Amino acid sequence: MPSTLQVLSLASPSAGYRRIRFAGAQLAPFCQHDNIHCRLVFPAPQRDGASSTRVYTVRAFDADAQWLEIDFLLHADAGPGACWAQQAQVGDCVEILKPGGRTARIADWMVLAGDDSALPALARIAERLPASTRGHVVCEIADPQDAIDIRLPPGMQWHWLYRAGAAAGTGEQLQRAVQALDWSAAKATEGASRFLWVGAEFATAQALRAWAVDSLGLGKQEQLIVAYWRRGMSENELRAPKADLEKT
Ligand SMILES: Cc1cc2nc3c(=O)[nH]c(=O)nc-3n(C[C@H](O)[C@H](O)[C@H](O)COP(=O)(O)OP(=O)(O)OC[C@H]3O[C@@H](n4cnc5c(N)ncnc54)[C@H](O)[C@@H]3O)c2cc1C
Repeated sequence: MPSTLQVLSLASPSAGYRRIRFAGAQLAPFCQHDNIHCRLVFPAPQRDGASSTRVYTVRAFDADAQWLEIDFLLHADAGPGACWAQQAQVGDCVEILKPGGRTARIADWMVLAGDDSALPALARIAERLPASTRGHVVCEIADPQDAIDIRLPPGMQWHWLYRAGAAAGTGEQLQRAVQALDWSAAKATEGASRFLWVGAEFATAQALRAWAVDSLGLGKQEQLIVAYWRRGMSENELRAPKADLEKT
């Protein structure tokens, strides 16, 4: 059953994002750490139009105070999700559908990678890693203005990559940066476990998945690589049955 969220407050965690805090009465299913995503239903802009659903990450929540926060990337070529977030006002409402999607499996050595649409998920996952976790977080954003401070275990390093004017989803720097990491460090300790989590544009996700399986030999339990969006396609088109990547 969908439930209603109402905008409580609006903020800008950095230049390219709008952080919206929502109040809701039945938030318990969304206030947990193994399901960090949700699907929102945005009302049609016109009276006789159709509503649209899009997937987002619950960036923060307080189950007792009955609120949750979502960081919306204000991306180019904005669709129903980004448009709604850009124009949202205190008191506006959206529907929220059931929580969904898996998240990163905790391992001794981890690589978390993504572009700016995955920054909320990267931050949320990274903030909850056990203090002993070693590895890297690699995040591609438009420019340094969108960089934020994230608490990390001492053995994890955060790497920002900047597009410096290039359009999102057009380069290979995220893919190359992940591939250039010293993956032998994952096995530096006898029996250490490893995990690769990626949330990125379709082509990057597809390339990294093939590399992770074919070149790194990561098994199903050692990676979760998700296409967060696809250049030139709305989310409806990306999630059409022929899309062959992980569905959420
Ligand atoms: C599990 C999961 C969690 C996600 N969490 C978040 C989150 O917390 N915050 C967030 O902002 N997004 C998040 N996303 C990504 C978001 O769902 C997509 O970006 C979605 O397409 C946005 O919907 P829209 O209506 O704005 O654009 P759509 O109607 O889907 O697309 C319109 C146009 O915009 C382009 N586009 C879509 N996304 C981007 C982008 N990131 N950069 C540049 N162009 C883009 C499309 O290619 C298309 O041409 C998540 C996705 C998944 C799968």
